[in-house]
Amino acid sequence: MRSLRGNDQSVVRALNRNALLNMLLHEAPLSRVQLRERSGLSGAAVTAVIAELIEDGLVEEQATGPSTGGRPPVLLTVNYGARAAVGFKLMERGLDAVLANLGGEVGNHVRCDLPDTRPETVVQTAAEVTARLLDGSGVPRERLVGLGMGLPGVIDTESGVCVHSSYLGWHGVPIAELLERATGVPTVIDNDVNAFAAAERLFGHGRQARHLAVVTVGRGIGSGLVANGRTYRGARGGAGELGHTVSERGGRACDCGKRGCLEAYASEPALVARAREAAPDLPLPDIHAVLAQRSDARIGALLTDAGERVGVALANLVNLFNPELIVIGGEGVRLGEPYFSALRRTLRENAFDGLADDLPVVVEPWGDEAWARGAASLAISRTFDLEVT
Ligand SMILES: [Zn+2]
Repeated sequence: MRSLRGNDQSVVRALNRNALLNMLLHEAPLSRVQLRERSGLSGAAVTAVIAELIEDGLVEEQATGPSTGGRPPVLLTVNYGARAAVGFKLMERGLDAVLANLGGEVGNHVRCDLPDTRPETVVQTAAEVTARLLDGSGVPRERLVGLGMGLPGVIDTESGVCVHSSYLGWHGVPIAELLERATGVPTVIDNDVNAFAAAERLFGHGRQARHLAVVTVGRGIGSGLVANGRTYRGARGGAGELGHTVSERGGRACDCGKRGCLEAYASEPALVARAREAAPDLPLPDIHAVLAQRSDARIGALLTDAGERVGVALANLVNLFNPELIVIGGEGVRLGEPYFSALRRTLRENAFDGLADDLPVVVEPWGDEAWARGAASLAISRTFDLEVT
């Protein structure tokens, strides 16, 4: 093997650094010996890289671990507070923002209204909110590793361009570059469901999973697919549009302009519209009112039908993608029963032999800040080139 020189060596060093940091983020506390065994690197390489990470404040030595005779090993852990990231979830009428540490823990959460969704308005508001979050938490700007933004639509993450978003009315908006220019902070953008999937992969149930489907229900229905430990985006960044798979050919009109999409039957706005049609005598201004009437047989049947449709779509997803874990999140987790029991039943009934038998389907408790936290984890994973994006 030829020896490595100059740039080659620094590339190897960076790869080793990220590999060890990745291991510590997922499995800390670990000793240097454990890192050497797991990474296959030499003891000298581990020692050098860890020294560098400690000097940068990213890794610290913990109290000693249990001894097996001889000197007890020094355990290493990540100093999660050493850096921070800001995450944004951009919606039709507002911007959610969080400041999160390297462990994905949210320090501050801000929600503000947007008068409109023009890119200039979004960028100006995001810059102001970033300053507010930093001021409010006392975190100096130089400790910020980056900004992440999750937005609904087809996103080209590499170029930082929102290719198309019908919700925002955007086409070809270079939003990452605009945000970087306004804030001076490196920015990564992604589809909001992929952002949430990145958080699940880094900090949530997906930490040990190589093949993971993260499904969100609520205003819309979407999925983020992690294949071989990496987000699967497809040729044009549009992979995972589960909500626009066909649930009924030629059926109800969907916001996307097509007919019969799953979202037109099983998203929260669709459920409200269908509930009003099924029970015109009930006052049903919003999803909360619909859920309050779930004991009404018509509403119960509707929730069951919607859950079954999502279950069938997930069975199709399982047959195509064969994930080892499905995580369900989004505001729609409040739909509760009978939506989710119908979903689980039809998923198992319709999946191909064996593929769904032991498949865990985890419904994640949902917090308002979860979307924006996902976006912050995009920035964290991109900064350290962790195995996610
Ligand atoms: Zn559609």
